[in-house]
Amino acid sequence: MEQTEMLWQYQQADMAADAFEREIKRSPNRVALKKNREFLVEQQNAVKRMEQEVAEMADRVEVIKVAINRIEGQLAALQSRMEANPPADLKQAQEMARDAQKLLNNLNDYEREMKRIQKDAADHERSEKEIRVKYAKVKTEYDQQKVAYEAEYAEQTRQLEAKQAFAQEKAKSVEKALLDKYAQVKKHCVPPVARLYGDQCGGCNMSLPQVTLRKFKNDVLYIECENCGRMIIQ
Ligand SMILES: [Zn+2]
Repeated sequence: MEQTEMLWQYQQADMAADAFEREIKRSPNRVALKKNREFLVEQQNAVKRMEQEVAEMADRVEVIKVAINRIEGQLAALQSRMEANPPADLKQAQEMARDAQKLLNNLNDYEREMKRIQKDAADHERSEKEIRVKYAKVKTEYDQQKVAYEAEYAEQTRQLEAKQAFAQEKAKSVEKALLDKYAQVKKHCVPPVARLYGDQCGGCNMSLPQVTLRKFKNDVLYIECENCGRMIIQ
């Protein structure tokens, strides 16, 4: 058989193997599995984030508790001072009242913040629980899918390897120089080999100049399409 015909047959086998490989990647079970895996990772990250945030809230609550204690101490001290030395005049009384009010305002701010944090923490824990329930459900589904898909994938791999072996078998009859060129063109143009139709490249339909076409008369195995770079055979 002619080299170009061998090359053509090799390309058909090679393209069939590649197409099958793409089909494997698009397999609905594989896509569903991937989607669930991504979902599970997302949920794990969300839980981790929430745990981190809850830990930060707990730290902040500790800081607030200390601050509240301090202000309560200051208020108690102020009160003892007032009892021991009652204000002598209105101005002094107003000053003391202002100091007390400032401390009370601070105390209120801290208590409000504490309540807000406690509510946030409770919300977080609730969401975390919901996520864990959802996670467990999807994980069960995922584990079953995974077992089923592994069997499917093993069979697909076996078929793919058979197709690739068939292509390799075809390649054995093709000259190395042609195979090297084929591999090089395949990197940017698929399928790499096209037939000549009239004066056109069968790959991109571009008309080839006569000067290029005349090369076939010199017994070359293929000519290169100046437009798409394919190997054109007759
Ligand atoms: Zn072309």
